[in-house]
Amino acid sequence: MQPLTADQIRASFVNASGDEIERMPLPGLHEVIWDQREYLGWRDPQTRLGYLVHWADGRPVGIVLRAAAGSLRPGIQAMCSFCHSPQPATQVRMFSAPRAGESGRNGNTIGAYVCEDLGCSHLIRIAPPHASAPEAIAARGAALLARVSNFTAEVRSTISD
Ligand SMILES: [Zn+2]
Repeated sequence: MQPLTADQIRASFVNASGDEIERMPLPGLHEVIWDQREYLGWRDPQTRLGYLVHWADGRPVGIVLRAAAGSLRPGIQAMCSFCHSPQPATQVRMFSAPRAGESGRNGNTIGAYVCEDLGCSHLIRIAPPHASAPEAIAARGAALLARVSNFTAEVRSTISD
């Protein structure tokens, strides 16, 4: 992905208040290997919040997510709905994202099972089969970005039922 600056990240959030954005911890951007990322995802170690930013049509789109309190049952396999990597259930979390605008302020959220550390980009580069084949990684990366983009598009959508 194209690199992001701290200012771009703070300006990108579509479902967070000014206060929430102010309290948001930023990851160490100088440590990020941007060309091995489809999206930038990180957790706030002090809260159950997580953050995710990706590029869409030339501009960054960020959403805040909240992890569910309980983890899935240990001992079973679970799959992240973004990267589709099968993994132990304890490494996948239910996250909910408030919808953008008034709908979200009224408590409407969208949920998804996602890698607990929001580290899908790392997983798709180490997961079998053909883990290190560049074409395989490119295909997994494109599919990952498409699923993340669909999710954030749904968060941004103001259509409510
Ligand atoms: Zn994942």
